[in-house]
Amino acid sequence: MPGRLKVLFRLLTSVLNAVVDPLRKNPDSDSLRLSSAEIHTTTNDGDVGWGRRPPARLRCPRCGADCEQHHPLDDIDCPRCVAEFSHEEFPELELLFLSCPVCGTRMEHGRRHPEAFDVPEWATCHGCRYHWEFKHSY
Ligand SMILES: [Zn+2]
Ligand SMILES: [Zn+2]
Repeated sequence: MPGRLKVLFRLLTSVLNAVVDPLRKNPDSDSLRLSSAEIHTTTNDGDVGWGRRPPARLRCPRCGADCEQHHPLDDIDCPRCVAEFSHEEFPELELLFLSCPVCGTRMEHGRRHPEAFDVPEWATCHGCRYHWEFKHSY
């Protein structure tokens, strides 16, 4: 009798293992994990807030040369005529474009409330799909 029970038990565990194993070693679960990692990366591929604004290329109002403002709180220095502008003067300078911080591509930017803001409120990279959003709190 105990021998038959043991056999039954072994049979049951092998059946259980057969059910559990595909879940453990299923290559599909690996690809599932991969795709959720991809989703994670896509949601990370973006920034919000002026402090995380992508680097800007501006036109020097004095000589017309291109000036790079990497960080939104950096002073804007013209490399040609050595004019200096504070970051608060950003809206007065002509914005040429923002550069994607991920792949360096020139981004498309725009405003959502042109009557209220004279700075870009969003920018999107068509190269790598990085997106930046000003997102003010009203
Ligand atoms: Zn200049
Ligand atoms: Zn990009």
